[in-house]
Amino acid sequence: MSEKIEHVRCLIIGSGPAGYTAAIYASRSDLKPVVYQGLQPGGQLTITTEVDNFPGYPKGIMGSEMMDEIKQQAERFGAEIRFGVVTEVDFSNRPFIVKADDGKTLSAETVIIATGACAKWLGIESEKKFMGMGVSGCATCDGFFYRGQDVAIVGGGDTAVEEATYLAKLCKKVYMIHRRNELRACKTMQHKVENTPNIEMVWDSVPEEVLGDDSGVTGVRVRNVKSGESKDIPVTGFFVAIGHKPNTEVFEGKLELDKFKYIKTKPGTTRTSVTGVFAAGDVQDPHFRQAITAAGTGCMAAIEAERFLTS
Ligand code: NDP
Repeated sequence: MSEKIEHVRCLIIGSGPAGYTAAIYASRSDLKPVVYQGLQPGGQLTITTEVDNFPGYPKGIMGSEMMDEIKQQAERFGAEIRFGVVTEVDFSNRPFIVKADDGKTLSAETVIIATGACAKWLGIESEKKFMGMGVSGCATCDGFFYRGQDVAIVGGGDTAVEEATYLAKLCKKVYMIHRRNELRACKTMQHKVENTPNIEMVWDSVPEEVLGDDSGVTGVRVRNVKSGESKDIPVTGFFVAIGHKPNTEVFEGKLELDKFKYIKTKPGTTRTSVTGVFAAGDVQDPHFRQAITAAGTGCMAAIEAERFLTS
């Protein structure tokens, strides 16, 4: 018995701000998009607390509520949003063949990939316990809450330095905790740290425990990996900046990825190495990683998909 294949004009993989915004635009262009939400419906914003930097919400909004509203907006124009994970793609011919874990096989004239990225975490129990109560993975998003206070950031790459210098403008003091005695960040970024008087390096050290109480984070216990000694640093904010991992496993070998496995797009567009496949949001963006930039590229991807189909 031959397998029944469902044909779609536009398949969207992923349901963060990029995927849902692509769904709004694609449905309004009559592409009748089908969205597979992936493992974390609504994306990374559903695990944050308040979002204060997305335009249009002057009083702020909870991340999960905002994602639900964007989803409803897409459904209002006919996007079909499905709970499920894409497990296999074949981009060698058009229409593309995609399989999902709901047992469906789809043939898609265009595909928009918006599977996002995951922040890496230290994996200690107290980090989880105080998530959103002083523990954050994004200084640009949450730094504002710690104005005039002392905070710590862990990591030694470009992201950690960028976030530490951003925090230093808002906070009284920033402790930068790094597991070695030299930064991985490029020299220019290293000079930024050296030239910022309120950043104090805590070298050769790893966070053992995030300290806190009912009010949230009160400090961090760090262990010096050379001496084995531990000490407590009093802070109210604890930022983790040890890298991100794009969600691209299923696309390996099917599309061009960069050396960190982010999807390569043609600058200024969402076009990938396969004509008719577009990528939007954090899955192709190691630099900005904001809900608004993800939404922006989601919009671009849907417009590009529509133009591709009608050209
Ligand atoms: P990186 O992988 O470059 O750096 C991660 C940092 O976290 C490293 O210093 C690493 O330590 C540390 N680390 C990793 N795991 C742990 C752990 N479990 N415990 C403690 N520390 C840990 O990630 P980034 O996000 O900083 O950067 C990713 C890419 O994006 C890079 O290519 C970077 O250059 C680029 N980027 C560029 C920017 C720019 O040009 N403006 C801005 C931001 C990023 P160790 O050094 O010991 O391995």
